[in-house]
Amino acid sequence: MSETLLKNGFVLSPSDGQNGIADILVKNGKIAAIGANLETDGEVVELNGKHVFPAFVDMHVHLRDPGQTYKEDVESGCRAAAAGGFCAVCCMPNTAPVNDSEAVTKYIIEKANAVGGGVRVYPIGAVSKGLKGEELAEIGTMARGGAVAFSDDGQPVSSSRLMYLAMQYSNHFGKKILSHCEDKALAKEGVMNEGETATRLGLKGIPRAAENAMIAREILLCGELSIPVHICHVSTREGVEMLREAKKRGVMVTAETCPHYIALTDEIIDSRDYDTNARVNPPLRAEADRLAVIEGLRDGTIDVLVTDHAPHHRDDKEVEFIYASSGISGLETAFSVNYTTLCRENGMPLEKLIELMSYSAPAILGLPAPKIAVGENANLAIVNLEKRKKVNAASFRSKGHNTPFDGMEFYGAIERTYAGGRLAFKEDKDA
Ligand SMILES: [Zn+2]
Repeated sequence: MSETLLKNGFVLSPSDGQNGIADILVKNGKIAAIGANLETDGEVVELNGKHVFPAFVDMHVHLRDPGQTYKEDVESGCRAAAAGGFCAVCCMPNTAPVNDSEAVTKYIIEKANAVGGGVRVYPIGAVSKGLKGEELAEIGTMARGGAVAFSDDGQPVSSSRLMYLAMQYSNHFGKKILSHCEDKALAKEGVMNEGETATRLGLKGIPRAAENAMIAREILLCGELSIPVHICHVSTREGVEMLREAKKRGVMVTAETCPHYIALTDEIIDSRDYDTNARVNPPLRAEADRLAVIEGLRDGTIDVLVTDHAPHHRDDKEVEFIYASSGISGLETAFSVNYTTLCRENGMPLEKLIELMSYSAPAILGLPAPKIAVGENANLAIVNLEKRKKVNAASFRSKGHNTPFDGMEFYGAIERTYAGGRLAFKEDKDA
C-alpha cells in the first residue's frame, strides 16, 4: 500500500468539473479521494496552490526506436515525456526498420510497457511500405496490433492516389491518417522558410506553397470522401485560413501545431548565427504566420498542440546548416513555451491550454483521456506557473539536446508527473 496526499493544489480539469484548491489522495496509483482537509498516514506533499492538471498527451513524437537509439530510445523518450508533464505519447513510424508491420508495432508497445515508467506509448503505423510512398503498408494488421493512426511523417504521401486509398483503408479500421504536408518538388533543396531572412543569409528557401498545396489537397480529399484527415504541424498563415474555411463548411479535418511555430520565427536562424537547432521541417516561418497560428489555436481552427519531438545526435546538428538534420527535441520545453507564449503573452485561458495539451489528442485518436476523478489512474502534471526557468538543454532527459530554446527563459516548471498511476517524474530541486 502506498499513499501520497497532494495537499492544497489548484486542481484544474475542466472536463471533470475541477477548478479550485483541493487535496488529492493517490492510493496505489489511483485517485482515491478529492476534497478538502484529506488525511493520510503516508507521504504528504504540500503544493501551496501550485497547479494540478490532467497530464498531457502528445500525438506526434519521434522515439527513434528501433534502430536509431543513439538519438533516442523508448526509455529515454518516456523519461523526457514525463519530465515534460506527459502521461502518453504517440510515436511516428520513421524508425529503422520502419514501423510498417505488426511486429514493430508490438515491439514498441511491449518495450514501453517494460521501461516506460508509466508513460503510455501508442505507435503510429506507416501509410506506405518503408515510407517509400509507393505501396500501402499492412494497415489492417498494424491496426489490430495496436497502431492508433497512420502516417508517413517525415515524408509526405506524394501520390494523391495512394493518399486517397490510404484514407479509405485506414478509415475502415476506424483510424486516421496524419498528413505531413509537403510538396517535395516545390520544397526541393530548400533548408529554411523562403523570404527575406533566407535571402539575407544566402540559404535556399522553401516556399510556403510547398506546405499549403498539400493542405489544400488533403482538404479536398477529405471533403470528397467524407473521411476525416489530420494535418500535422501547421506553420503557415494560408494553411490556417484554408483550415478555417474548410471547417466552416463541415469538412472533417483536424490540425495540430507545435511550440516552435508559436514562439519563434525564421529570424532566429540569423540572430543565432545559422543555429542548426532552429532547422525544422516545416521550417520556422515569418511573424505573420506565427500570429496566424496562434489565432488558429485560439479560435479552434487548430485543434491540438503537439511537440513533433525530434531528437538528434550532436553529429546530426554540428554541421553546416545545409547538411543539418531537421528537428527539435521538444518534450521537455513544450508546456513552458506554450504556457508562456499563449497564456502569458496572448491571454489564452488556462482551460483552453489544457484542452489543447491534454484532451484534444485523445479525442482526435479515440484514446482514453487523462481524468482527475476518483477511481481513475493518477495521470497528473503538477506545475509551478510562477516559476521562471532557463532552458538548459544539457540537462534534458532526452538523448537529443537539440533545441533553439536553449538559454531562453519561460514560465511554468513541471514539478511532478504521475503517469499511469506511477510517479514518473519529480523535479530535481538543485537543478
Ligand atoms: Zn512531419
